[in-house]
Amino acid sequence: MAEIVIAVDGPASSGKGTVARAVARALGYAYIDTGALYRTVGLRSAAAGLSVDDAPALAELTRSLTIAFAWDGDLLRVRCDGEDVTTAIRQEAIGLRASGVSRHPGVRDALLDLQRQLADDGGVVMDGRDIGTVVLPDAQLKVFLDADLAERARRRHEELVRRGETISYAEVRDALAQRDDADASREHAPLAAADDAVRIDTTDLTIREVVAQVVGLAMARGAHR
Ligand code: C5P
Repeated sequence: MAEIVIAVDGPASSGKGTVARAVARALGYAYIDTGALYRTVGLRSAAAGLSVDDAPALAELTRSLTIAFAWDGDLLRVRCDGEDVTTAIRQEAIGLRASGVSRHPGVRDALLDLQRQLADDGGVVMDGRDIGTVVLPDAQLKVFLDADLAERARRRHEELVRRGETISYAEVRDALAQRDDADASREHAPLAAADDAVRIDTTDLTIREVVAQVVGLAMARGAHR
């Protein structure tokens, strides 16, 4: 039986990664974290000393990278040209850099085929900013998650501190706000809900409640467990 494709979009720390991953697990689907692709370009462009404004060089760099995902127990490992970048790409500074490089159409185009290939066989939950609008406009289910900035900053700060980063709540909140503004206002493939997306505000919901809602929607649109 053909399985469906689920697109999950939303701003930073809206819960999309956690929710998308749990929905994928509940349905036995693959989970694809597209933010990790842009973060990897952010990381590699910093290492190469490229400016986030140098569109041609960033596009060329992106085309030259081989990025692959693999599960290691509960951890989704990301490899770039054979090197494990899983931990390095999670720093907030790399998130901001990812937002800078992701403005350029040449960078986005270079990652488009890979994202579409990963969803080709169905049975996939993909999260990002433009999945329902640009990458997978035919997805059978599109979900747009959002939450208040204060709540998203609280979640993100907790996560970073748990990982051992030294960063204040205010710094996290300001970095998130800056990243969301940049992502939502860029010209190409901005952060946006597709017209046919189901919007869920997660501010006062538990992860479990959101996951149950999305799994319910997925089953109503043809997913099987
Ligand atoms: O989802 P995550 O916070 O890891 O994404 C990092 C950055 O990558 C985002 O702020 C955004 O600029 C970019 N991104 C994007 N399109 C996607 C996924 C992420 O532009 N589909």
